[in-house]
Amino acid sequence: MELFRDRDVVIVGGGDSALDWTLNLQPIARRLTLVHRRDDFRGAPHSVTAMRALVAASSMDLAIGQVAALHGVDGVLEAIDVSGANGTRRIACERLIPFFGLTMKLGPIARWGLNLHENLIEVDTEKFETSVPGVFAIGDINTYPGKLKLILSGFHEGALAAQRVHRYVHPDKRVTFQYTTSSTSLQRKLGVA
Ligand SMILES: Cc1cc2nc3c(=O)[nH]c(=O)nc-3n(C[C@H](O)[C@H](O)[C@H](O)COP(=O)(O)OP(=O)(O)OC[C@H]3O[C@@H](n4cnc5c(N)ncnc54)[C@H](O)[C@@H]3O)c2cc1C
Repeated sequence: MELFRDRDVVIVGGGDSALDWTLNLQPIARRLTLVHRRDDFRGAPHSVTAMRALVAASSMDLAIGQVAALHGVDGVLEAIDVSGANGTRRIACERLIPFFGLTMKLGPIARWGLNLHENLIEVDTEKFETSVPGVFAIGDINTYPGKLKLILSGFHEGALAAQRVHRYVHPDKRVTFQYTTSSTSLQRKLGVA
């Protein structure tokens, strides 16, 4: 956070990340400007309302448009140009934080011979195993009908995949289903018994 204290900060984007950073950095920055290409935000309504209240109180600026140019000396950023419906305006900017979304890069995994669908790994929803037996995929990287990219889903997928993984690792042992709330053996493993 100290990198942004008393600096002219510009945040670009209209999603939750852009709005979260806006609300957190606004009290710290010398002046904060949020730039978004349209006056319509994908972020949580509560965050949008909070941001608009800060703009109404002149505590930060909202610029509708696109970043058209960066200006500075010796590689040090000083200002940006934002072009919008009313032309181009220059905004003082020492720190620029763009939030244009996430790009998944599979790296070497793309060459593992797994079934891929739009750069995601297809799995079944019983055990989250890929097209290669013994290779599992859980979390944002997998895809199946109804998939939600949530850590909540990742935990669920992990629990189901672990059941099947256990059978590969210990084919001779049964999985005993237990709750951490009531099983002393699990609590001992977790060091809380
Ligand atoms: C702004 C935002 C807010 C969110 N809020 C919520 C929420 O409130 N509730 C909720 O349930 N979920 C939320 N999510 C979703 C949640 O963060 C993700 O679903 C979760 O982080 C996915 O976990 P993951 O382990 O599958 O992937 P990630 O957390 O993306 O982890 C993947 C890791 O793999 C690494 N990696 C990538 N490629 C390679 C490679 N080739 N080799 C080695 N490592 C590699 C990456 O660097 C990264 O560390 C939010 C997401 C965002 C972006």
